[in-house]
Amino acid sequence: MARIALSHVGKVYDDGTSAVTDLNLEVADGELLVLVGPSGCGKTTALRMVAGLETITEGEVIIGDRVVNNVPPRDRDVAMVFQSYALYPHMTVRENIGFGLKLRKVAKAELNQRVEKAAEMLGLSDHLDRKPRNLSGGQRQRVAMGRAIVRQPQAFLMDEPLSNLDAKLRVQMRAEIGRLQRELSVTTIYVTHDQTEAMTLGHRVAVMRAGVIQQIAPPQVLYDRPVNLFVGGFIGSPAMNFLPATLRHERSNWVVQMGEHTLNVPESVLSARPALKELRDQPLIVGIRPEDIEDATIAGMPKGQTLPAVAELVEPLGADIIVYLALDIPSVEGTEGLADLASGLERSPIASTGGGSTVVGRFNPRTLAGVGDEVVATISTDRMHFFTHDTGEAIWDL
Ligand code: ATP
Repeated sequence: MARIALSHVGKVYDDGTSAVTDLNLEVADGELLVLVGPSGCGKTTALRMVAGLETITEGEVIIGDRVVNNVPPRDRDVAMVFQSYALYPHMTVRENIGFGLKLRKVAKAELNQRVEKAAEMLGLSDHLDRKPRNLSGGQRQRVAMGRAIVRQPQAFLMDEPLSNLDAKLRVQMRAEIGRLQRELSVTTIYVTHDQTEAMTLGHRVAVMRAGVIQQIAPPQVLYDRPVNLFVGGFIGSPAMNFLPATLRHERSNWVVQMGEHTLNVPESVLSARPALKELRDQPLIVGIRPEDIEDATIAGMPKGQTLPAVAELVEPLGADIIVYLALDIPSVEGTEGLADLASGLERSPIASTGGGSTVVGRFNPRTLAGVGDEVVATISTDRMHFFTHDTGEAIWDL
């Protein structure tokens, strides 16, 4: 096992595409770090540079204590698991799992023992003599994992290993990968575009956008303290809502004004974000998570915490009801510069109409709100997020 470090790593492909810029990352020994971001953000490129499958244009990749920039893949002592599994169709499960060991001329008795132990860990013992075509998707994925495990590498590098599985199996295999990684304690970099996978699996998660890491933090920190609008919008599902606002100080109260409406900014928010008061009377962007918007008939109508809305779409999920709410607050969509900041984020299925905003609320299932109904939305104002209008950076410290 080993730590992995990337120091000022950059990648420019031959055609001039800059895929990764100044990437700095340290994965501790035994840690599972997830690289997450929208399609094309450079996560696969980053992983392939660690594996040695892609040359490094700039910077250093270190595995253990060794700079591996010029070390060929087979000598890096890492095992890669791909989305496609890359199994050999003509070989049995046993042969597929043991193939890497055979190439390394591991003695037969030891090879068999290692293959059987891996198969046992993965629940494949009864399938060792089958060919991949006679396995389910989940079993094939396990064989790919088995091949990585038997190698006893210094690190696992996983590139969207669950993408080809159906939703239920994905959840099951996700838990299994987490368990195996804990048991084996092998340093792991795991690439995915799925923020739920990232949050549930990662000890820490690195969020990437357009070749640049935005934030590296434990999952709960990403959720509670996103450093910018992109991370705020990328982590959490449904995504955080954004509304243009102005911070005002009125009759000894701090409020955010959004169109004709105002919400109180509680003292706890102001003290957690000392830089906020400096932006008095300036335009900024308020972020509100769907779970912090509730039907007022359920949450009550505390003063300075409500917004009038019209329900546009209602999606019952059983435990919650997702309600799309039209507000007569100008949309952030027209906000200059924001389109770029928000590119790659989840889009609302409802187009904002007439210049107003649509926000998503995660309502208690006891709500009676139906499509077309006027609804009062109660906002947990103590959980509002604030971002600068021009750069989209979160407003925290001075
Ligand atoms: P996805 O989730 O879609 O696989 P990703 O985040 O893994 O995306 P990469 O595959 O690393 O992204 O691609 C990053 C950027 O580099 C993209 O703009 C992509 O088009 C580009 N790219 C990838 N491979 C090459 C290549 N061989 N030559 C030129 N450009 C490339």
